[in-house]
Amino acid sequence: MVSKPPILNDFVRKLTMKPNKHQKSTYTSPSLLMFFLQGSWRFFLLSIVASIAVTALDMLSPRIISFVVDSVLGDTPSSLSPLAEWLVSSVGGVSAIRDALWLPALLIACIAILSAACKYANIYYNTKGAESMMRHMRKSLYGHIQTLPNDWHQSNKTGDIIQRCTSDVDMVRNFVADQMTSVVRIVILVIFALWSIVSIHPRLAIVAFLAIPIILAYSTFFRSRIGHLFEECDENEGVLSTIAQENLTGVRVVRAFGREDYEKDRFERQNQVYTNLWVRLCKYLAYFWSSGDLLSGIQVMLFIVLGAVFCVRGEMTSGEYIAIVSYNAMMIWPVRQLGRVVSEMSKAGVSIGRIKYIMNAAPEAPVEEPCRPDMSGDIEFSHVSYAYEEGKDVLSDVSFRIEGGTVFGILGSTGSGKTTLMYLLDRLCELREGSITVGGVDIRSIDREWLRSHIGMVLQEPFLFSRTLGENLAIAAEDPDMDAIREAASAACLDETVMSFSQGYDTVVGERGVTLSGGQKQRAAIARMLLQNTPIMIFDDSLSAVDAQTDAMIRQRLRERFGGATVILISHRLTTLMQADSIMVLDRGRIAEMGTHGELMDRGGIYRQIYDLQMSGAGEEVAE
Ligand code: ADP
Repeated sequence: MVSKPPILNDFVRKLTMKPNKHQKSTYTSPSLLMFFLQGSWRFFLLSIVASIAVTALDMLSPRIISFVVDSVLGDTPSSLSPLAEWLVSSVGGVSAIRDALWLPALLIACIAILSAACKYANIYYNTKGAESMMRHMRKSLYGHIQTLPNDWHQSNKTGDIIQRCTSDVDMVRNFVADQMTSVVRIVILVIFALWSIVSIHPRLAIVAFLAIPIILAYSTFFRSRIGHLFEECDENEGVLSTIAQENLTGVRVVRAFGREDYEKDRFERQNQVYTNLWVRLCKYLAYFWSSGDLLSGIQVMLFIVLGAVFCVRGEMTSGEYIAIVSYNAMMIWPVRQLGRVVSEMSKAGVSIGRIKYIMNAAPEAPVEEPCRPDMSGDIEFSHVSYAYEEGKDVLSDVSFRIEGGTVFGILGSTGSGKTTLMYLLDRLCELREGSITVGGVDIRSIDREWLRSHIGMVLQEPFLFSRTLGENLAIAAEDPDMDAIREAASAACLDETVMSFSQGYDTVVGERGVTLSGGQKQRAAIARMLLQNTPIMIFDDSLSAVDAQTDAMIRQRLRERFGGATVILISHRLTTLMQADSIMVLDRGRIAEMGTHGELMDRGGIYRQIYDLQMSGAGEEVAE
């Protein structure tokens, strides 16, 4: 067996290599295309082979007609290929064909049947290749997006990401399945047709040949002129999708503030910009297509006139004239199409660039030699500072210790950095200054999945999927049984409510849980987290939408059933925090006070002031 040279092996491996999930990829557009073509290129190859067969078969008919016109109907002997000579003599020569005119007709019919079968194979394998490539693209994109860090998601708009994963993926599919295969088909057709023309009348072939570079040069020039317009159209479609998506998700906020007209106008303005861009683009495309048609029309006219002159001069027979004009017509229209295809390819170039942006985004940094320590130990933040934007610290030199198995309360005004602290612990944000340890082990050396699966977090805004309540809770654990789901729901004071619904745990919650009240959503999110049964539980202002009584009841049940866990409670409500083993008061990213409820009360600082205000009924908002 002949093995590939090492350089070629290395090249193929690099082109088709699937990067490690934590490794940053550096795809170029061609290598990304090769990667997406894994598993489907064989189908495209078969489709191209079938397409070549169709083209070759189509080339035969003008030859047969030429032979019939010159030799069968007339008396001029045709120059035939050895195979054609053999065929003619095997049926008894030209005179026998003259007596049985159905023979050439039968041959043409057989060629048409063979061509149809090849066309079927061409379409079948092309579609199969296209669909399997689409699946691979969607899977790779979705899989890669899952590995991207939180800040990437925050800095990229959902509508735009969806656009890249749908329209752009579609465009690349069209590029490979339609445009690339068309280019190959047209190039093969042009080679066959030119070859046939040259074999009949080489001088006339110059007219056919000259048209090709003119049309291609015109297409390339045009492509360079409109490439940026396609890009602008794509970007603006992304903006339009983002506005629509935000409006649909925030429809209740828009209505509550009576901002329908404002939002409608905003959408309409963007809609107009997008429409104008397309109209401008279509104007250019119309110039291109019509002038392309004119160019090819002139070429066909020249060819027919010159061909007729050569025919009259006796340089070719009538049959050859018919065949040569057919070959030119067969070739020139696809060449003009080639111009269009090449111009369409610029759209795919933009799309592959937009997909590359996602595929080349760096995934969460890998943990070197990750460990999986016991997560029930003490949690220690040491000199932690953090800024989302350069120079704007949201946390400054924060150091504190949470003893394992205790309840730790955090009180602080909105924007004081409470959630950021929790994101840092869960590595949703990457620590840049200071360190965080759990049981004495730096979280940067803990396996990320292990860390996150041992930290349960209920966020300020609970997110529920538009599935049944049971399914929403069940995503927290692997195959939990109904008893476990109900136990967690009952600890979160949700079970009774769910059982009062006519469909119980099979109740489908609307998109993002809109059919549930704020409190029910929070309790569902708490139940989901409890089902995970993690040694560290974080409640980030997640009892704010339940009444004080339910809040107390949930905490009581938590103590009874999940007593061994380290619980971090973030709240504005002092009654929620009072019984914590230790309470930290955070003020503009710095620790203002820390101690037990009693100690903080004795100190008479911010905590005491908030307590006095809340207890005097001035409202919980004071902590804001
Ligand atoms: P808290 O939970 O105490 O309300 P956060 O930790 O959510 O506070 O936010 C602390 C500060 O960081 C706020 O000023 C907030 O505006 C800012 N912040 C939060 N997330 C981001 C982000 N993704 N990009 C930039 N700033 C952010």
